[in-house]
Amino acid sequence: MSDKKPELSAAMKSKAEPKIFKKNPINGTKFTIAISSAKGGVGKSTFATNLALALKKTGCKVGLLDADIYGPSIPKMFDINEKPKSDGQKLEPIIKYEIQCMSIGFLADQQTPMIWRGPMVTSAIKTFTQKVNWRDLDFIIVDMPPGTGDTQLTFSQEIKMDGAIIISTPQEVALLDVKRGIKMFDKLGVKILGLIDNMSFFKGDDGKNYKIFGDGGVKKTAEEFSKEFLGEIPINPEVGKSGDRGKPIVEADPDHEISTIYINLAKKIKSIYL
Ligand code: ADP
Repeated sequence: MSDKKPELSAAMKSKAEPKIFKKNPINGTKFTIAISSAKGGVGKSTFATNLALALKKTGCKVGLLDADIYGPSIPKMFDINEKPKSDGQKLEPIIKYEIQCMSIGFLADQQTPMIWRGPMVTSAIKTFTQKVNWRDLDFIIVDMPPGTGDTQLTFSQEIKMDGAIIISTPQEVALLDVKRGIKMFDKLGVKILGLIDNMSFFKGDDGKNYKIFGDGGVKKTAEEFSKEFLGEIPINPEVGKSGDRGKPIVEADPDHEISTIYINLAKKIKSIYL
């Protein structure tokens, strides 16, 4: 019998690479995936919520951690208005659409701006990763705050992140920041699973694709940094409407063409890790 080991995929191989920092895994989960964007408003939270739901549809147990402490959007996108229960030691995640969810937005008044300094950010992150009763999860999807500031650094230094997905629109101004984001994750030893081009085009009633924010920039950036390009998600009004209604499109309409994009991506991620 040959003792030749099966070939591992590129993503699996790089998991074995030495990490620069000693990092703790989040209790109760196998894999932690960060969803990151260099700028606000490019669809990061929409992507994080729909990817979490798509992973669930592929049979995974999924948690969703809203680490966007300056602008949490999971409470609105999942229509969660209750506060998490606590036994004095740990917080219970709120379960919605079979996803275990935690967000600073569950704990604070939604309309109060979060004016937090470094140490408070670190302690919030520790609470969410160590003091939440996450249970038997295959994946935690972390909705990161936009940019390359304190929270991203603290998170990526302290927590064992198994992969990061960077999402952008194809605008030049967004792409500049994407490059910074790529460099940050590379420096911190976090494997970048790939780049997503969100709101890449709008399909008109005439059947033509209109490239509202530019063309091909995210793919080009991926190539420039030798990262995988994970694909395009078009602009579709249903995406916004379903998010605003508190039931993201993958849950509201799993057969929608946008949902199919998410479910295919979820299958790909699942096959890399499980
Ligand atoms: P971010 O988390 O990057 O700030 P959001 O996820 O809140 O961005 O998205 C910003 C806005 O864009 C929201 O109103 C959302 O519904 C909308 N949006 C995101 N992706 C799409 C898409 N593919 N098609 C249409 N609207 C989208």
